[in-house]
Amino acid sequence: ETLPVKGYMSDLMEEFRLELEEKQIQFSYLDKMDPDGYVRIDRKRIHQAIRNIIGNGAKFGGGNELTITVELWRQDDAVYVSVKDNGPGIPQDKLAHVFERFYRIDTERTKDMMSTGLGLAIAKELVEAHQGKITLSSTENEGTCFTIMLPIVKEQGEAGQ
Ligand code: ATP
Ligand code: MG
Repeated sequence: ETLPVKGYMSDLMEEFRLELEEKQIQFSYLDKMDPDGYVRIDRKRIHQAIRNIIGNGAKFGGGNELTITVELWRQDDAVYVSVKDNGPGIPQDKLAHVFERFYRIDTERTKDMMSTGLGLAIAKELVEAHQGKITLSSTENEGTCFTIMLPIVKEQGEAGQ
């Protein structure tokens, strides 16, 4: 399906806002995308990819004062969605592994959590199936930021597919 990304994202983010606020997690969504553009996506699958990433922020963030910030912007022919948390972060030497199937970082704090280590492997597959990319940066004790890139296939107001 080819659809304008701003409306799709703002609807999606309203859903996440309700879910996260119920869990006492601060949530903010910043739409910096201008002008709007079209992406070719399966909305359920991109929803799932973003859910896996936001869900991790909520799950591993722990403690109080957890904040999750989503930003939307564009650069050239691509749209970017970043999901940032102020949770425990991921050690530098483990960053390269978190997209592997069944990879989990075991800590005293997370040992009782529901966790199979598949969420990010699935998110990566879903995004790459849309010719997109997913990247991450993280600082221990500061937080983690995942960024999804998706190609823009048509500009706002442009005719045709
Ligand atoms: P599943 O998603 O299958 O329920 P999971 O959350 O453990 O299990 P992934 O989502 O693939 O698996 O994440 C892999 C590992 O990366 C996690 O076990 C966790 O150690 C680490 N991780 C992922 N996201 C974050 C985050 N936002 N903050 C800190 N650690 C994270
Ligand atoms: Mg997960």
